[in-house]
Amino acid sequence: MPLDKGKNGFTLPKLPYAEEALDPVISAKTISFHYGKHHKAYVDKLNELIEGTPYAEMSLEDIVKKSAKDEKAKALFNNAGQSWNHDFYWHSMAAKGGTPSGKIKKALEDSFGGVNEFKTAFKNAAVGQFGSGWAWLIAKDGKLAIETTANADTPIAHGRKPLLVADVWEHAYYLDYQNRRPDHVQAWLDKLANWEFAEKNLG
Ligand code: MN
Repeated sequence: MPLDKGKNGFTLPKLPYAEEALDPVISAKTISFHYGKHHKAYVDKLNELIEGTPYAEMSLEDIVKKSAKDEKAKALFNNAGQSWNHDFYWHSMAAKGGTPSGKIKKALEDSFGGVNEFKTAFKNAAVGQFGSGWAWLIAKDGKLAIETTANADTPIAHGRKPLLVADVWEHAYYLDYQNRRPDHVQAWLDKLANWEFAEKNLG
């Protein structure tokens, strides 16, 4: 899912739905700040940091992978990782999400023992991520697995294959759920998780 890149750098990708589409789990107000302010700021900063450097010639995925290994590029990694993670996150949700079927449902059953068992494990991981970060469903060794990353970190920096992600930074849920991250994650799983997107990523 490469971000559009013109000669002036990367552009903030369009949301795949209207700002109010995920209400009431995620309100239009949350999306307007999260997408219009937070995500935009990461993309703007990314463009500022790559200007005039060899990174300016690279795809976003390559910037993430290369800057992850560069001690002097921490700010770049944070803003590139957050730009990529947020685009993946918007696509990880759908207005009528939450119900896996077909191939992805079978994969969840094979890997976790059932859809509900998966949800419990994912929620525990998301709630257990101390501070800011992300909860991911990834494909690993022919199975599905859950992992969390802190701050801007992302599975693609480590050669792993993400299928779906929930943002567990407070800015993702605080206006709608305040400190109740467990309730937010449960509603996210039950009503928003975009299983068509996850199955497409499974390939
Ligand atoms: Mn976020």
